[in-house]
Amino acid sequence: MSHRTQAAYESEFYCMTRILSFLVLLLVWVPSQATTHCVILQYHHFSDQTPAITSVSPAQFDDHLAYLSTHKFNVLPLRQVVAALRQNKTLPDRCVSLTVDDAYQSVYTNAFPRLQKLGWPLTVFVNSEAVDRGLASYMTWDQMRELSSQGVVFENHGHGHIHMIRKNSAESDQDWRQRITNDVNTAQRRISEEIGDAPQLFAYPYGEFSPATAEIIDAMGLVGFGQQSGPAWSGADFAALPRFPMAAKYAELKNFRIKVNTLPLPVVGLWPKDPLLVLQQRRPTLKLKLVAGAYSKAELQCYINGSSDVAINWSRDIPDQLTVTPNFDLRPGRHRTNCTMPSPEKGRFHWYSHNWFVRNPDGSWYSEY
Ligand SMILES: [Zn+2]
Repeated sequence: MSHRTQAAYESEFYCMTRILSFLVLLLVWVPSQATTHCVILQYHHFSDQTPAITSVSPAQFDDHLAYLSTHKFNVLPLRQVVAALRQNKTLPDRCVSLTVDDAYQSVYTNAFPRLQKLGWPLTVFVNSEAVDRGLASYMTWDQMRELSSQGVVFENHGHGHIHMIRKNSAESDQDWRQRITNDVNTAQRRISEEIGDAPQLFAYPYGEFSPATAEIIDAMGLVGFGQQSGPAWSGADFAALPRFPMAAKYAELKNFRIKVNTLPLPVVGLWPKDPLLVLQQRRPTLKLKLVAGAYSKAELQCYINGSSDVAINWSRDIPDQLTVTPNFDLRPGRHRTNCTMPSPEKGRFHWYSHNWFVRNPDGSWYSEY
């Protein structure tokens, strides 16, 4: 050993230090290297003629597909993504899954032909009553059978497209549970009868869910999806997985690019569990506990309805825990707290979103918009 130089010792020491720090890094969550996640996109219409708030134009959809193709994204079937996430199996880093809610005509006329050319999979969440009634804006069962034979998968979006969290005034808890269960069961039966493949996944109409609806969906053996944004990951709640809504300004290519490149902000603890605010509450505090990790805490930004007038407080006592509170009153309606944090990988963000549902002061429900 005596012939070894000081430099060699230093070099060996340096290597050992590198190896040790690598092992330490493996023990904590390393944000940029997590691969058990996937970005799920939620569309409605693919048309210039339908309401902008729920539509992308065919040209916009072309842009989305071209971006995914050029940047070598892996567009995977939703069932495959869910199975991998549940089993904590590795997914390709640039994983995207395409979903549609409501089974509108433009899926048949505009979305499917484009996806067929690329050989990319599609999942459609069907609200079966609208199809049974033969509404002109919806696909027919015949059209859906045709798409099913080409690999499109049809899943459950409820029968009557109801606001599941809204309990009727004269309804007991038990009656409400029965009504919700019946609605989901009817869609399950109708889609199975018509398509011949029993749904495994469920998308909440309007993205509205609560711990009670999540319990019902979970008990029925279905995996649930909301409309809160963020990538799905292996530690997320499988009764209400996030999706990025794609319509209006959210579907513009500059926003699309950011969203398909997001990484999870890995929330493992969340308070309050119920997104429905108690009456008169207008400034809800969201408490989040993240997986232990090397976060750039100062760079975390949160927005509510696009406003950054929000108080963010990292806990001094509990590591990786924070609260987010708006400095303004939320009006009756649906709201979202979005939190993002830059990843060490340039141009990529960790992303988490949480819903709030706020009733009118007298307890009545906000109207749909
Ligand atoms: Zn819907």
